[in-house]
Amino acid sequence: MAHTVLDLLKRLPRTNCGDCGLPTCMAFATQVIKEGEDLAKCPHLPPAAQELAGAISSQQEKGEGRRRESLAISLEVMHAKIAPLNFRDLADGLGAVYGEEDGRPYLTFSFFGQTLLVFKDEVRYPPGAAPNPWDAILLYNFIASCGKELPTGTWITYQSLPNSVSKAKTLARLEKELADHFAGNAGRLRRQAAALHSEPVQASENADFQGVFLPLPRVPILLLFWDAEPEEDFPAQAHILFDSTVSGFLDLESLLFLVEQLMDRLMQK
Ligand code: SF4
Repeated sequence: MAHTVLDLLKRLPRTNCGDCGLPTCMAFATQVIKEGEDLAKCPHLPPAAQELAGAISSQQEKGEGRRRESLAISLEVMHAKIAPLNFRDLADGLGAVYGEEDGRPYLTFSFFGQTLLVFKDEVRYPPGAAPNPWDAILLYNFIASCGKELPTGTWITYQSLPNSVSKAKTLARLEKELADHFAGNAGRLRRQAAALHSEPVQASENADFQGVFLPLPRVPILLLFWDAEPEEDFPAQAHILFDSTVSGFLDLESLLFLVEQLMDRLMQK
């Protein structure tokens, strides 16, 4: 039987260091199994992963393993996690609205401004929207958090979250990518942010852009951007901050995925 993304992921270091060129070990495992990426691109392969190299290379040659399968496995795991939860009890805490359709419970909430209906086995987008099937994993993780705290308005760094040291490098890389993308063009960033309904905030005295995004209810993200000042040899910089309650709603990996989604929209990837 072909090795799956989860088979490989279990054997990777799961530090999300980014040295393979991808933001997370999950993304790398997916690329290897589904897209034929070279396993050796991870320079930190533990022996357990190296042992799979031959079998994975052989299944890549045969074209075994399909993208659909990877998503199906991840969804299966999340569906099992979600199944026993009582959506009615969770709705308020998650900033969602409870509903039922033919006896099937669902939660309605806003995801990057789109109103989604999240059933236990289906995510329903508004007509005309282009669904990203991987969003479902994030949304189910959000629901499975059973979070209920209201944002405090106190901003914290990703690095200050427990056990984030190894993954913080990924966020720093994403911040740099964003800063480089909008260097010399703060006006464009403002327009893009406005299109994503960012709210102005006064969190820094000298940032060229500062705005709060609400990609998910209860999970605000603050973006600070300082444009480049070439004459002073000052490169553009971006910092992303989270409300102090964020770890009650998303795990570290889901948070990085959410930031990536925000960046993709800002940079119109
Ligand atoms: S290089 Fe880092 S992020 Fe990539 S798979 Fe290896 S440990 Fe994970």
